[in-house]
This record gives sequence, C-alpha cells and structure tokens, in this order.
Amino acid sequence: MCFPFTRCYSEITPIIQVPEFVCGICAYIIQPDEEIFELDCGCIHHLYCLMDELEILEECPLCEDELVMSDVLELRDLRQFQMEKELSS
Ligand SMILES: [Zn+2]
Ligand SMILES: [Zn+2]
Repeated sequence: MCFPFTRCYSEITPIIQVPEFVCGICAYIIQPDEEIFELDCGCIHHLYCLMDELEILEECPLCEDELVMSDVLELRDLRQFQMEKELSS
C-alpha cells in the first residue's frame, strides 16, 4: 500500500512555508486566486484544466493514480454548471 498524497508532493515541493502547487495539466504554478480542484489522490490542479481534459483524462497527471468516478462526476457537474452559467449571462 502506498500513499499517493505523499508521493505527489514530496518530489516537487520542498518543505517551505507556503507550498507552491503546480498544475499537472498545464504545468503552471497555481495562483491563490485561481479555482482549483483536489482529486481523490490529494493532488491539486486547476479546475478549468481538469474540466478541459476530463474526456481524455484517465489518471492523475501528477501521481498517475486512476481517477475515481466520484471526482469525474463532480467535475462533469461543475462543467455543466459553468456552461449553463455562461449561456445565461
Ligand atoms: Zn492548469
Ligand atoms: Zn494525484
């Protein structure tokens, strides 16, 4: 049994006071004002990056853990919500 959470961050983030999270999809550092989504494995990505890649994404780009169905469904819901919001504005 391994721990994806530790695996995700230990290699990228040295122990500093404010950890910087790098999105596994676009590889940019996630800014504090950006919307994020934490996957079941504990990795954090941009919400919009995940929504963009949702159809082709089968695993977490950072730790390569398989995506859990609940995350996929939640992202689909969020994307649907986003699309409806854009349509109505
Ligand atoms: Zn991103
Ligand atoms: Zn992960």
